[in-house]
Amino acid sequence: MTCGVVDAGEARGPGTAATVGSMERIRAVLVDIDGVLTVSWKALPGTASAMEQLRGAGLRIALVTNNTSRTRAAIASRLADLGFPVDAGDILTAPAATAAYLREHFPGARCLLLNSGDVRDDLTGVTLVEEGDADVVVLGGAGAEFGYEALNRVFRQLQRGARLVSMHRNLYWGTEDGLDLDTGAFLEGLEKAARIQAEVTGKPDPAFFASALAHLGVDASEALMIGDDIESDVLAAQRSGITGVLVRTGKYLPETHRAASGTPDHVLDSFADLPALLALLTAEGGGTPQR
Ligand SMILES: [Mg+2]
Repeated sequence: MTCGVVDAGEARGPGTAATVGSMERIRAVLVDIDGVLTVSWKALPGTASAMEQLRGAGLRIALVTNNTSRTRAAIASRLADLGFPVDAGDILTAPAATAAYLREHFPGARCLLLNSGDVRDDLTGVTLVEEGDADVVVLGGAGAEFGYEALNRVFRQLQRGARLVSMHRNLYWGTEDGLDLDTGAFLEGLEKAARIQAEVTGKPDPAFFASALAHLGVDASEALMIGDDIESDVLAAQRSGITGVLVRTGKYLPETHRAASGTPDHVLDSFADLPALLALLTAEGGGTPQR
């Protein structure tokens, strides 16, 4: 294998089933942003040119992110500044998915939002309340806003019957300085204390992947998802029938990889290696579909 490509056989752990899709049929790529294209909003080496190559090969691309600190327009603007060929229409975020979920399941509800960053522009049709009781507590991404007072206010609202919707349940993300604690760590405690289960709207929710496929107009078997979170990005996508590719950048840790609940279809050192993987597998005839 070349270009840092590790094939599925090498990536597979003992006793786990292979789920290798036919790469000949891959027409669309779902790309996680943080830890895959960027770390701390700086481009990882070779990733922008790799995306240019995918575009040049005619692949449809959607960026699917649990990022909760920036709007789709702000993310697109930053990525364009870094040289990525994307615009806001290519970006699907957990906040936008959450707004769609709230409009469908809790129309008109009074929502208490706890989030680090301003994504109100992507929460169209959602009624946010600053004071008083809420019908739904909405958790975004963790940050300094997740202090004792704010978390206790959320806990009190849950005790009096508010529903709990979380944009994701990621435990941490990777920064230039190491891993930072994320919403999932607080969510577990809130769920236990209030004896309720959150409804999750971003990755790894199957509805999030389904909306991304619908956005691109492809079936799951024609799509590949590449991410640095083995559970939320890769294995969750594979459960939806999408080919999963794990990258060894961002939050990747060998111990998390070993302890994961399943096996990625492919593992790459970097997103920069994806065009080579696609070319290689297409040349090989796509391998043997096993599902
Ligand atoms: Mg990531």
